[in-house]
Amino acid sequence: MQQRRISDTDIDTDEDTNTIVGTYPARPPIVTIMGHVDHGKTTLMDALRRNTKNIAGTEAGGITQIISAFQVDLDGQDEKITFLDTPGHAAFKAMRQSGSHAADVIVLVVAADDGISEQTVEIINFYKSIVKGSSDSGISMVVAVNKIDKPGIDAEEAKMRIENQLLEYGIISEGMSSEGSEFGQPVQVIPTSGITGAGLDDLMEGLLLQSEVMDLRADDQANGEGIVMDARQEKGLGVVADCIIRWGKIEKGDVIISGDQVSQVRMLKDVSNKMLEKGLPSQPVRIIGFKSLPKAGDPIMVVASEEIAEEMLEQRRAIDPSTSDRPDGAGSDAALPKADGTVRIPIIVKADADGSLTAVRESLLNIGEDSKHTVVIDPIMEGIGEVTMSDIQMAKQSEATIFAFGSKRTDQTIINLAESEGVSICSNNIIYSLLDEARDVLGAYLPLIP
Ligand code: GDP
Repeated sequence: MQQRRISDTDIDTDEDTNTIVGTYPARPPIVTIMGHVDHGKTTLMDALRRNTKNIAGTEAGGITQIISAFQVDLDGQDEKITFLDTPGHAAFKAMRQSGSHAADVIVLVVAADDGISEQTVEIINFYKSIVKGSSDSGISMVVAVNKIDKPGIDAEEAKMRIENQLLEYGIISEGMSSEGSEFGQPVQVIPTSGITGAGLDDLMEGLLLQSEVMDLRADDQANGEGIVMDARQEKGLGVVADCIIRWGKIEKGDVIISGDQVSQVRMLKDVSNKMLEKGLPSQPVRIIGFKSLPKAGDPIMVVASEEIAEEMLEQRRAIDPSTSDRPDGAGSDAALPKADGTVRIPIIVKADADGSLTAVRESLLNIGEDSKHTVVIDPIMEGIGEVTMSDIQMAKQSEATIFAFGSKRTDQTIINLAESEGVSICSNNIIYSLLDEARDVLGAYLPLIP
């Protein structure tokens, strides 16, 4: 089925009051540093991290522990940047595995004395594959021209040289043009040195600017959703998982689902091991309480109670092909004509309120009934609020289409996840338009109907 994207027009104006509805609070950018081996990623990261007064909650004396993310707090401005501290290829993997981009911004490190190498090109191509042709891919890039302290290096000259090289690979820099290309908006190119610290402030300012342009926001009140960055067993604690919160909040005591395990957040810590009561969007947190080891890249989500969590897993198992007892092994019979010729179309309905949920569900059911064909629209799950990761997982497993009404703003992570999982989301704040979309979806099933 054709993937449908949630368009910008979903951030609708309220016709009665003519005000923009639903703007969630800004959240810090999540940044990953990538580049050719030896171009200075580790040194740059250490320099950012070592500046201990800038690091939220870090005890003096340096950090010996390997942590997979940290948050830099810019002096007194209450502006934070989250850095994912994963080696380049692990970061690729985590991004691909989770089907969403763990990061918002890639800092591409290019050594001034070496220029663009084969590995740099690999990263550029990875970036281009994500952003190509998309007006809102949810990821952007900033280039750090590094090692500008080296003898014989002129920072401005190196910057221009690398800007020219980038252009050869289709990446337009701000210094070149204000017009973007099919590979996104022009990128900032910032000279830096991890050794002397030159340009690090510019880099951080640049990242904050980038995050403003991207208008990164998230609901900080909703049930939390995030991604596991790293997990391990620790003596006396059990499973310790470093996670990034992408949406909502995670609190001590919360029930979380990850994969097919239901766990409780027994302890929540920041990355320097300080106890937390709750974590907020873009914050890296340590979660203690997982029953078994989750994998890097696994999504996690908070659910209201253990009963609900078990119910959700039960539902999942019921439609999981591996647990199906059908002789052909197919778990979902979506869109397959049954013996009596009817075709079942599974849907997931989300709406902004109870009343609208009922109205949308009933209208969708009517479409099925009005159809000249023997189509049964089957709402397998419904709920109030934005489309969540669990909705997408559910939709994927049951081959359902998601219908969202009155959505304020769907997080880019969710849109990306849906895209990578091949899940269609029809989102509209006007019910007639949503029903039109539903008729289109139905149309896609018609060739299957005998
Ligand atoms: P990575 O492989 O990209 O993580 O690179 P490293 O951070 O390990 O750095 C590789 C080498 O380059 C080390 O010998 C560093 O000391 C050196 N290096 C890294 N950053 C700089 C820099 O800004 N200036 C200079 N002069 N040397 C650097």
